[in-house]
Amino acid sequence: MITKRKFIAAALSLVLAGPAWLTPTTTHAAGPAAKPCRPGSSACPVQPLSAAESDTLTFMREEEKMARDVYLTLNKIWGLPPFSNIAAAEQKHMDAVKAKLDKYRLPDPAQTAIGDFQDKELEKLYDKLLARGDDTYLDALWVGGLIEEMDIEDLEDAIAATTQTDLAQVYASLLCGSRNHLRAFAATIERHGLVYEAQHLDQEVVDAIIDSPMERRGACGGGGGGKR
Ligand code: MN
Ligand code: MN
Repeated sequence: MITKRKFIAAALSLVLAGPAWLTPTTTHAAGPAAKPCRPGSSACPVQPLSAAESDTLTFMREEEKMARDVYLTLNKIWGLPPFSNIAAAEQKHMDAVKAKLDKYRLPDPAQTAIGDFQDKELEKLYDKLLARGDDTYLDALWVGGLIEEMDIEDLEDAIAATTQTDLAQVYASLLCGSRNHLRAFAATIERHGLVYEAQHLDQEVVDAIIDSPMERRGACGGGGGGKR
């Protein structure tokens, strides 16, 4: 039923605003309007990753942990460079991957204890590499070189297999770190009068890396999220 008061209000709005059918509708559709979302904020829904991208990201978290744990342990055994510095860099790499796991709401596979892994292949590798690295300091350096060569291959594959620019950026930053770590291990080995020989990648690929200068920290990027 149209009351007199409503009628007056409607008539008044026609006078003030013109006929309703000519004015753009300002009424809300059913349900509250979506809040504008700031990219990167936790309130902002993220596009989920593909299963393969999730698996790779999850694996990378533990692969970086494997490197960190081996270097921490080798540093405990030998107390010589470059294990301590590189272990600290691997911690940053782990953190960068963790930030992406959080962003995509994926569970963190990394357990706290050194040498413990959810991925049992990585755990086996950890044991095998340590068994070699505790023989001599030189063996430990070769183990470092091998880890970095494996990381380089895995990170290059991960970059090629993702369509997410933010993941590709993080992987590229980790890859840059790995090239520097390989340079550091190879240079330390060569200071002992040996020639660094490729252990996992092609020799030409390794030579191209170790014959080129260290990439500056800035060149290794901020991982796309402003934090390294
Ligand atoms: Mn790393
Ligand atoms: Mn490394």
